[in-house]
Amino acid sequence: MNEVVIIGGGLAGTEAAYQLAKRGYHVILYEQRPQKTTEAHKTDRLGELVCSNSLKSMEITNAHGLLKYELSEYGSLIIEQAYKNRIAGGKALVVDREEFSKGITEIIEKEKNIEVRREFAEHIDKSKPTIVATGPLSGEFLERNFANSVKGNNLYFYDAISPTIVTESIDFTRAFWGSRYMEGDNAYLNIPLNRDEYNKLVDMIKNAEKAHVHEFDRELFFEGCLPVEEIVKRGDNTLRFSLMKPVGISSPEGFDKPYAVIQLRRENREGTLLNIVGFQTRMTYTEQKRIIRSIAALKNAEIARYGSMHRNAYVKTKNVLNYNLSLKQHPEIFFAGQITGVEGYVESTLTGLIAAVQMDRYIKGIAPIKFSRNTPSGALLNYLFFNISDNMQPMNINFGLFPPIEEKIGKKERRERMVKRAKWWIEKQKVEILETI
Ligand SMILES: Cc1cc2nc3c(=O)[nH]c(=O)nc-3n(C[C@H](O)[C@H](O)[C@H](O)COP(=O)(O)OP(=O)(O)OC[C@H]3O[C@@H](n4cnc5c(N)ncnc54)[C@H](O)[C@@H]3O)c2cc1C
Repeated sequence: MNEVVIIGGGLAGTEAAYQLAKRGYHVILYEQRPQKTTEAHKTDRLGELVCSNSLKSMEITNAHGLLKYELSEYGSLIIEQAYKNRIAGGKALVVDREEFSKGITEIIEKEKNIEVRREFAEHIDKSKPTIVATGPLSGEFLERNFANSVKGNNLYFYDAISPTIVTESIDFTRAFWGSRYMEGDNAYLNIPLNRDEYNKLVDMIKNAEKAHVHEFDRELFFEGCLPVEEIVKRGDNTLRFSLMKPVGISSPEGFDKPYAVIQLRRENREGTLLNIVGFQTRMTYTEQKRIIRSIAALKNAEIARYGSMHRNAYVKTKNVLNYNLSLKQHPEIFFAGQITGVEGYVESTLTGLIAAVQMDRYIKGIAPIKFSRNTPSGALLNYLFFNISDNMQPMNINFGLFPPIEEKIGKKERRERMVKRAKWWIEKQKVEILETI
């Protein structure tokens, strides 16, 4: 029986272990807890949820719901346990966190093909097929073990995310394309603000509720990457003289000379997602939504990814990993979970499943699966490997990552078409995913 190693018994690691065990491998799963723990984990259970007990929407017309549907179709352990231990939560999949991780631990520990070693894996034996799923708080471990593979600026230790908006939800009658001092260059979408609008925005940011900051996240700020709420503390005009400066931008006909400008930049090649430049923030999600939607051009904005600033170790995927999630320098070593550059419990689980399926194919000499961008898995992988940002920030699933529906139809109908298209492709992918069991 082939032996494989998995380091990390979190969401991605346990999903990967389960999938490989089902495919006939002897899996050695290293989990450091309880011997050694992280700043976020509280128990010694496998698959522990480190914070919220919500796995977000279950609705299939929501990208989070569609991702869960896809994982269920592929036989995900984590999603199965989530539904099994579901508690009341409206449209969201909210779980009893104790029962959830207890269920995962029992299944993994009882599985005859999995040997759980409660040890901190100090070093990685690069000659053995291994999945590294050590989570967002394992930056030092990654740096120590993969110094050569992640050299340069290819390993991040924290994220600094500024909100991302689905382009089609922006009111383009109140915005225009253009770059500072570059006539004819359309790299940025500019939202001009007058004095009143600017002052209102600054006031709202000043008074906004901030998210709880963990002790280990307190020391993150450094000059050049301050959250927007820290910038406004330095004076009401600071934003207007820095990232919102109105200079060098020529307003087209019909627009007044702006007092300040919010700039958005494409997040992907098609421009279906736009990122608000420099607005990394620790405001709560509710406040971010309220403030963003108070800006006339963004009144109906669909927020694909909220801003955040966390300790968060992840690699610059496209430079470091192959499409099958193995390391370019060591094709026997695969990465999974948050360290691949995805954001979220279910997204981390997905990469655990993908790494396992692709590793199995690699060992058996079968070509890797090429995931369709019309499915949540393919859409996320497409972001990881083909994003155009120099400073890649982790991404959660959202419809802005999918190929757009070009026809001019209403939002509801567009979503329904996207879901129908996704289901068709998931059905096809499912055959490939399950064929090796
Ligand atoms: C503080 C915090 C709060 C978060 N809150 C949310 C949230 O509310 N909702 C959400 O969707 N996402 C949240 N995330 C993001 C992300 O979804 C979670 O971090 C998720 O747990 C990532 O899954 P993972 O499998 O990649 O890592 P983890 O679940 O962290 O699993 C990694 C595992 O590896 C073990 N390990 C690490 N190094 C070694 C080693 N060398 N040897 C042996 N074992 C090792 C760890 O003990 C751990 O069990 C949060 C992240 C953090 C840091």
